[in-house]
Amino acid sequence: MIGKEDDMSEYDLIIVGAGPAGLSLAARLAEAPLRVALIDKTPAPALADPAYDGREIALTRASIERLRTLGAWQRLGAEDSAPLARAEVLDGASSYVLPFTDRRRREPLGALVSNAALRRTLFECVQEQQNCDLVLGATARIADIDGTCASVALDNDRTLAGKLIVAADTRFSNLRQSQGIGAHMVDFGRTMLVCRVRHTRAHNSIATEWFANGQTIAMLPLLDRQSSFVLTLDAMEMADLKRLSAKALAREIERRTQRRWGDIALSSEPCYYPLVAVYADRFAAPRFALLGDAAVGMHPVTAHGFNFGLRGAFVLGREILAANRNGRDLGAIQGLRRYEQEHRRATLPLFAATNAIAKLYADERRLARLARGAGLRLMNLAPGARRLVESSLSGAHA
Ligand SMILES: Cc1cc2nc3c(=O)[nH]c(=O)nc-3n(C[C@H](O)[C@H](O)[C@H](O)COP(=O)(O)OP(=O)(O)OC[C@H]3O[C@@H](n4cnc5c(N)ncnc54)[C@H](O)[C@@H]3O)c2cc1C
Repeated sequence: MIGKEDDMSEYDLIIVGAGPAGLSLAARLAEAPLRVALIDKTPAPALADPAYDGREIALTRASIERLRTLGAWQRLGAEDSAPLARAEVLDGASSYVLPFTDRRRREPLGALVSNAALRRTLFECVQEQQNCDLVLGATARIADIDGTCASVALDNDRTLAGKLIVAADTRFSNLRQSQGIGAHMVDFGRTMLVCRVRHTRAHNSIATEWFANGQTIAMLPLLDRQSSFVLTLDAMEMADLKRLSAKALAREIERRTQRRWGDIALSSEPCYYPLVAVYADRFAAPRFALLGDAAVGMHPVTAHGFNFGLRGAFVLGREILAANRNGRDLGAIQGLRRYEQEHRRATLPLFAATNAIAKLYADERRLARLARGAGLRLMNLAPGARRLVESSLSGAHA
């Protein structure tokens, strides 16, 4: 254990951000002989029982296995997850459908779990963990990083010192910025509305992604004839929708979905997210690493943000465990670079492809519309390309 001053609390690892990514890393290290501090500005009650935030996270099969390893999957109740059998992509008014399934194993592609349920179960795991101090209701900033030690200062005047600081503090990471690490940011100028809806027609556990003129709609299948309705619109147009009552919004959803799912009633409040994708220039520096959205903040259209965050937590966790086992410094750049390289390889192609898809489908020029229609048909004719998407949806390569 290291420390520079007597009044510092001393740790091996300090994680800033108890979102799903920071919690996953802490849980991954549950059995390790390490002292871990997990800091979040959110007070304990709001982390233990997070408010519903509209996000239904499409988990790949690989992510479900990782959550099982952490002990979080087993804590979800039957009412918390819904199977995702297949996905279908529709283009505008065309009757053409591009299906994605798991042809080889004939299993569901994954499952849908609300972000609130994920956060709750991961928090339960970490709370029971012997080697992790939860420091909640406190905002952290980096105080110092030198050759032997890294320290964070809290807004309650406490200082924590460790060998390594991991920033999992959202895509607009202040810690990343304070360390002079730049990020490639793409502001799509669009806003995403998400809410639960109840509908009269069955969804058959199929997720539908529907690219129509000026709007993108996704219907993600939940339990009891409910779906998560996801609408992406130009930010100005979305401002008009925000003024609608729940009843008027339900009618608007019926109109926009052309009653494909029958009558609609809202079963949650709508939540709104401005769409900005972020990719950090580096994920690691001496005694400092970025995790989750702070490293890779995805556009949600391909549903990979948390799947990547969880994968990253396992790769970084593996490096931390190996360094500890072999008596190496946890904060040494070599191990952190291995994490960075592997995580970059896993995420960069899909980050670029997702942004290209999001831009193509927001573009209403004739050429873009033609390219979209042709793209879907080509994908259907090229089994290799479709299999690649199918394995990324199930996480087979993740
Ligand atoms: C509408 C929508 C749908 C999505 N759908 C999917 C999907 O289907 N599949 C998928 O895989 N992903 C999806 N995602 C992405 C997923 O939600 C995110 O990738 C994930 O929540 C990011 O987790 P995180 O822990 O990195 O960050 P966050 O969840 O942003 O958590 C960061 C935490 O850090 C804390 N914090 C920040 N700064 C400080 C500080 N200075 N001091 C102390 N604490 C601090 C915050 O309080 C917060 O608790 C979706 C996202 C959206 C918006």
